[in-house]
Amino acid sequence: MTRLLPVLGLALAAALIPSVASAQRRIIIDPGHGGTDPGGTGNGLQEKNIVLDVATRFKSLLDTDTADTRGGGSWVALRTRTSDVFVSLSARAAYSNNQGADRFMSIHSNAFSNTSANGTETFAYAEGGTGAALRNLVQAEMIAAWGLTNRGNKTADFAVLRETAAPAVLHELAFITNATDAAKLGSATQRQKAAVAHLRAIQRHYGISPYLPSLAAVAPVDGAEAAEASDVATPAAGSIEQDESSSAAGCSSSTGSNGAIGALALLGLAFIRRRASRK
Ligand SMILES: [Zn+2]
Repeated sequence: MTRLLPVLGLALAAALIPSVASAQRRIIIDPGHGGTDPGGTGNGLQEKNIVLDVATRFKSLLDTDTADTRGGGSWVALRTRTSDVFVSLSARAAYSNNQGADRFMSIHSNAFSNTSANGTETFAYAEGGTGAALRNLVQAEMIAAWGLTNRGNKTADFAVLRETAAPAVLHELAFITNATDAAKLGSATQRQKAAVAHLRAIQRHYGISPYLPSLAAVAPVDGAEAAEASDVATPAAGSIEQDESSSAAGCSSSTGSNGAIGALALLGLAFIRRRASRK
């Protein structure tokens, strides 16, 4: 019997290690467009800049949530681009797949020739799956955060939804071509609210009570807790930057293989969606 104890110990350790590792979810955040592909434009704004800012705020919240152990969740947050560069759609999906992503969350803003088109909508590849479940939460949290027209939970055959192995969503914050919507997109305060909405959505998706993390309240600078928090945060931040730089050669728009095609396809989709919404 005693000879079994070490074996049991090893078995217990083996059982525990994967559960600890899997508790830290890898979230790929995909800011649409970039570089030569501005995405939608209107009201003095460019989609590529708006969505990169929201994506970066969302990543920062996930990192802070990870370091703040008083609540919330534990995440590895990676972005498909970290600056104003062009990244192809296939490279975005490949990056997510190579990183072993648990979830892929793409962030865009909408555009349409008729400036009265407005509102918020979120896409999954298909109904009924994990991606659709996350999509519904992102949409609900964004409607609660911004209060714009609810265009609903939708499905679409977007490359970044189709080619990603992880359950994936593509969120359209608002219409950059609509003055009321653009006021939200152009406001740093509102973009932070959008990032918090994404955080709440992914927390709820994993059964975590919505929690707004803060490092400022963790402990005094000289305290043991503060030292512990910085030890946790530093290696995580370093590995993330390395992960991202290795992928920078890769990734761009949500629907096309280049900017012009992507923009045209987006316009076409916007038109189709608008026609559909008239029914
Ligand atoms: Zn877009």
